[in-house]
Amino acid sequence: MSLVVYNTLSRDKEPFVPIDASHVRMYVCGPTVYDYVHIGNARPVVVFDVLYRLLQRRYPRVSYVRNITDIDDRIMVRAADNHEPIEALTRRTGDAYQSDMQRLGALSPDVEPRATQYVGEMVALIQRLVDNGHAYAAEGHVLFSVPSMSDYGRLSRRTRDELVAGARVEVAPYKKDPADFVLWKPSTDEQPGWPSPWGRGRPGWHIECSAMSAKTLGETFDIHAGGIDLIFPHHENEIAQSRSAFGHAIMAKYWMHNGFLNISGEKMSKSLGNFFTVHELLDQYPGEAIRLLLLTAHYRQPLDFTHQGLVQAKATLDRWYGLLRGRDAAPANAVPQAVEDALSDDLNTPLAVSAAHQLGTPTELRAAGQALGLLQQDAEAWFRWAPAGSSGPPDSEIETAIAARQAARKAKDFAEADRIRDDLKGKGVILEDGPNGTTWKRGELA
Ligand code: AMP
Ligand code: ZN
Repeated sequence: MSLVVYNTLSRDKEPFVPIDASHVRMYVCGPTVYDYVHIGNARPVVVFDVLYRLLQRRYPRVSYVRNITDIDDRIMVRAADNHEPIEALTRRTGDAYQSDMQRLGALSPDVEPRATQYVGEMVALIQRLVDNGHAYAAEGHVLFSVPSMSDYGRLSRRTRDELVAGARVEVAPYKKDPADFVLWKPSTDEQPGWPSPWGRGRPGWHIECSAMSAKTLGETFDIHAGGIDLIFPHHENEIAQSRSAFGHAIMAKYWMHNGFLNISGEKMSKSLGNFFTVHELLDQYPGEAIRLLLLTAHYRQPLDFTHQGLVQAKATLDRWYGLLRGRDAAPANAVPQAVEDALSDDLNTPLAVSAAHQLGTPTELRAAGQALGLLQQDAEAWFRWAPAGSSGPPDSEIETAIAARQAARKAKDFAEADRIRDDLKGKGVILEDGPNGTTWKRGELA
């Protein structure tokens, strides 16, 4: 089945036809790094990783870029609070983000640009906008002139009044129009800054993505994605900048947006304080369980986060790994048709998951897992997992006890063998005797 995606630009599902079928290009807006990311931030990473995997199956070459925003005023504030240099803070939290996303089974993008590495490109892009009349300098700032673009607002479909109100842009005397937004702003000596034709300063958030995407993927590319909150102003402004600078009718052909991860019906967010970091959840649940939870709703629908949902996701994976156990499937075959069809229909992951439940063989299950980024480990390794700080015995002690039980059975000392099994059970470890010997697993999550 050919791929169909919902395009926010047209508010409709459209067949996916790449600009260049020999090289598909996709950009996803990544996080601003000043702390551990929350599981809401992981939703775009996981759902668009499923898309990346699908594109890789269909096209000979796919370039996937996911940026890290390491210039932002929130970063400056946090670094000051921590008494930590900005570079140390963004390096540490950016690295933690990458490792947490890997533990959720997300493939590494082809490029992960950090904004600080592309300031030269940002300055050049702003200069272009100034030169062609789409931007103007005023009091150390450079602003994008919204009235200079006739179809500004096409992505978010907002009226002019809504644009101005929604942007909550500062009313500043140097602005020619209240909707104009900042491309460059001056920095004090204490603030991070880079030299520019408009004095020492730093880029605005939107220009970062326009510059990084153009440099890594080109002036136009196929897919641009992120959370639904980015449609306005971030993506609207990216489009304004890139189209005005380069003169193309589009920046990206398809704009895809994931719905919110909610908690008790409210958007999970740093500012509301109602969040769980991926880092802390990974102490309590395996990464694949977190990933499966994020795939149980369609990506455009809201998804309510609960611990119960994670416990259920782990139980599903326990069942699947149980089917794979002892059957080291040959390298996965083609993705089963029902799963591929579900994913081809605008990434219908809940349908793909229910199709996976119907599969008959371990090989098919592994292949379905590959498409979803699940079932990526050895079944024994899966069952050895334990939450951080759990009081259960270490793997080596379990292996030694199993060997001792084996020896007792051989010596026909069945009382001793049973004692060892019961002792392990008391410590939360369950033994299963099968044709290929004894396997073990740690008990289920409460
Ligand atoms: P931020 O660091 O806030 O720019 O967010 C990084 C990415 O996470 C963006 O694509 C956001 O749209 C997305 N995001 C933030 N909060 C949520 C949430 N609660 N649910 C889903 N996506 C989110
Ligand atoms: Zn962006």
